Amino acid sequence: MPDPGFFPAGHRIAVLTTEPVGMLDYLAPEGGVATGQLVICPLGPRRIIGAVWGEGLGGFDAAKLRPVQRRIDAEPLPPDFLEFLARAAEYTLTPMPLMLRMATRAPDLDKPPAARRVITPSGDPPTRMTEARARVMQVIADHAGAGFAPSELAQLAGVGTSVVKGLVAAGTLAEMAAPRDLPYPRLDPSLPGKPLAVDQQTAADHLRGAIRAGRYGTTLLRGVTGSGKTEVYLEAVAECLAKGRQALVLLPEIALSAEFLDRVEARFGAQPGEWHSGITRTERRRLWHMAGRGEVGLVVGARSALFLPFRDLGLIVVDEEHDNSYKQEDVVFYSARDMAVLRASMSEAQVVLASATPSLESWVNAAQGKYQRLDLRSRYGEAELPDMAAIDLRAENLPGSRWISPSLVRAVQARLAKGEQSLLFLNRRGYAPVTVCRACGQQAGCDQCDARMVEHRFQNRLVCHQCGETKPVPTTCPECGVADRMAPVGPGVERLAEEVAACFPDAKATVLSSDLFHSARALKETIAEIAHGDTDIIIGTQLVAKGHNFPRLTLVGVIDADLGLQGADMRAAERSFQLMRQVAGRAGRQPGDAPGQALLQTHQPDHPVIRAILSGEDESFWDAEASGRQAAGMPPYGRLAGIILSHPDPSVVADFAQMLSRHAGPLHEVGAELWGPAPAPIARIRGRHRIRMLIRAARQAPIQSAIADWLAPHKPPTNLRLSVDIDPQSFY
Ligand code: ADP
Ligand code: ZN
Repeated sequence: MPDPGFFPAGHRIAVLTTEPVGMLDYLAPEGGVATGQLVICPLGPRRIIGAVWGEGLGGFDAAKLRPVQRRIDAEPLPPDFLEFLARAAEYTLTPMPLMLRMATRAPDLDKPPAARRVITPSGDPPTRMTEARARVMQVIADHAGAGFAPSELAQLAGVGTSVVKGLVAAGTLAEMAAPRDLPYPRLDPSLPGKPLAVDQQTAADHLRGAIRAGRYGTTLLRGVTGSGKTEVYLEAVAECLAKGRQALVLLPEIALSAEFLDRVEARFGAQPGEWHSGITRTERRRLWHMAGRGEVGLVVGARSALFLPFRDLGLIVVDEEHDNSYKQEDVVFYSARDMAVLRASMSEAQVVLASATPSLESWVNAAQGKYQRLDLRSRYGEAELPDMAAIDLRAENLPGSRWISPSLVRAVQARLAKGEQSLLFLNRRGYAPVTVCRACGQQAGCDQCDARMVEHRFQNRLVCHQCGETKPVPTTCPECGVADRMAPVGPGVERLAEEVAACFPDAKATVLSSDLFHSARALKETIAEIAHGDTDIIIGTQLVAKGHNFPRLTLVGVIDADLGLQGADMRAAERSFQLMRQVAGRAGRQPGDAPGQALLQTHQPDHPVIRAILSGEDESFWDAEASGRQAAGMPPYGRLAGIILSHPDPSVVADFAQMLSRHAGPLHEVGAELWGPAPAPIARIRGRHRIRMLIRAARQAPIQSAIADWLAPHKPPTNLRLSVDIDPQSFY
């Protein structure tokens, strides 16, 4: 843990660097430094970023110590934040330097402000310009006042940097030293919220009280989509802001819509800070600094916003807390939901986990009293849940390459007649999941992965969903050489779109699938168009399940409700349940009309998951899931960790895995079991052969230190990658 203090010039200090070497001793620079101060340090001939951690560790010649080169112009990272990074590193078995790197990923941190150059308008633009120049000027006009770096501006305009330089030379634009960042407009927590319904008021009162008390606590806020959860947690935000503390609302990336930001503005009179992959480097930098100075009251962001250096964080909301996108499975493996709880507990802050379909983990934590649970029992106002029914595909006589049953066709036609929208949900991107040669039976596969390639007809390519590799759709089978027998098998959303066009020739259909949008902005525009009513039939993957509000949507048809039910993953049932519930919840009621309707096409209408969705008996579903997990000693009753090893040479990775499994003493000492090594479910990705091991232990077992002790003595062969995933969400 860091040790807080101030260290005068020349004092021996420990600096946590962002390099693999980790902690190094330096001498404090001129003027001294405080714990948490970000600094630039010499390392050999290089200059690296570090954070002052405390007293020097000692252990080598003081005469050889080098002084810190200079302070970075930023607030010191607060002590509770440093502590959070240390605990998160310990929990996820991530090296501290990587953690710090993640927390300092604001662009240009190491550049003094005077060295940052930004472009501003200067003088009147000429009336005639080349198209490229006009594009640059348009970006400037669209982002009034934002000072972009030349390269960033060029990138936003989709032109070369020379175009920007040309405009500077012509005097239309000027390049100058970046001014200090402006604070965000203050949100006003005293503005009145909407008058709340009884359940909402009870929940809001509880949260306000908890925030006033200024202690850590977690609340699971449960209620179907539209029950008014957002309205409730905005009350918690108001209380937090009124106390002068900062608040963070995490949303799944895709739910970060202009609609949400406008809602915040309507409530508090100004827009919050935004943090996600769609914001510019300039905004990213500004928000990072303002969070540290306490000059942004509310941040709305994707999972990585949790690693912003808030000066005084009093509330974290995790909306759609069950959502998979909160789990990062890359470089640092973490669950933003769990890390939110950890962070709040370091900072005497409150956590609100909001969901219509909570994760089993949160459900159990609430049942065991670790979390408080608040339920909003009905949709706000008189709206109800949609009517749910199964369409038994066994009785519908669908021909081989049709997926919309006659019953579903009739239901869609009824909406078309009334000018309402329908959503057809199929969680499969592309045209067809499999392309097979009818002569030899060979399926088109990826050269680099053990995965089938998926036809994407809009691009006219086969695409590997593992590595992104593409190739033309072959006309001749690469295996047997027979021509013109390659055929698509099974439906994807693009193929479904063809069927929709054939069944409803006069309807306007829109496909919503992540691969069809080149930018977050393009996707948002399409979603806004749909919300506006510009389409009759939406055909979508799980992209549509999340948080969008389509007011004219009254019918949801799930094309293949059986899709997620199979599979070895212990979370298959939970996931399927959450996803279908979420999708079905998109169907609303028109004023004065009957409730919306959700129809599930299935071959197994008696499957427990399908029955739970249809009956609306969530509690018994979760209880059954929970007791199944308990009996098996699986999370959240037991603990799991996943180990993935990969290497281009299959024997290298297999040998190393075997060796590890023979030396699993430290795991057995804490009562943990080691399963595997076994080929990972996708046994090869990008040419790397993958082997998986799973570790299962009792809930209280010190699994992290056991894994660390187990792995430490064994140096992996060159180019072998080993990742540890504590609490894995999937069994990749
Ligand atoms: P959830 O977050 O549970 O999906 P929301 O908070 O988004 O629900 O509420 C659904 C809709 O109902 C929104 O349009 C919201 O503005 C409206 N609403 C919720 N609570 C109230 C209230 N107390 N008064 C007026 N409108 C409300
Ligand atoms: Zn591939």
